[in-house]
Amino acid sequence: MRVFLNPGHDPLYDSGAVNDALGLRECDVAADIGERVKLYLELVGLEVFLMQSDNLAWESRHLERWNAAVTDEANRWRADIFVSLHCNAADGEAHGTESLIYARGGRAERLARAITWQITTSLDTTDRGIKERPELIVLHATTMPAVLVEMAFIDHLPEAKLLTEKADVFARAIARGITDYESELSAGVAASAEAWTARPIE
Ligand SMILES: [Zn+2]
Repeated sequence: MRVFLNPGHDPLYDSGAVNDALGLRECDVAADIGERVKLYLELVGLEVFLMQSDNLAWESRHLERWNAAVTDEANRWRADIFVSLHCNAADGEAHGTESLIYARGGRAERLARAITWQITTSLDTTDRGIKERPELIVLHATTMPAVLVEMAFIDHLPEAKLLTEKADVFARAIARGITDYESELSAGVAASAEAWTARPIE
């Protein structure tokens, strides 16, 4: 399986949400966890393309330094799944893990469920569920099942600490969510193949 990992935002042009008290930027948290997820997935033999960029779909052409658009790269590389990693932010009180998808009922929802379940059980974060956000570029400009994971809230002090001190636990949970999704898919394929071959030959 080919996995496209997109840590959110960009260290140079768009830090994402910031926890001023801790001097913690979303782009750095996402990059750190993303690199670790890549290592874990490669250890179990998956192909990974990691790309962090402010240029999601050519909206950053005007910048001095830009590379190809994230969504174009994922489509061109023929990724089987697309996973974008982000930190949420609200009022300092809100907390928990949620996943955003283009629409319910498909593989993206299964992938989102697998990743969210692994994060919430390994880190004991609140499960805020899976939400439809069709307007998000990374969800509608990609041609494969895509999930944007809001791992935890960077402006909620206990979760900000989790995101740094337990970065490796987040990474392992996300990697396991992805491999759970892969086994669930192949089990489904095997089950339907079995049903097919089990038919009596007349
Ligand atoms: Zn973000």
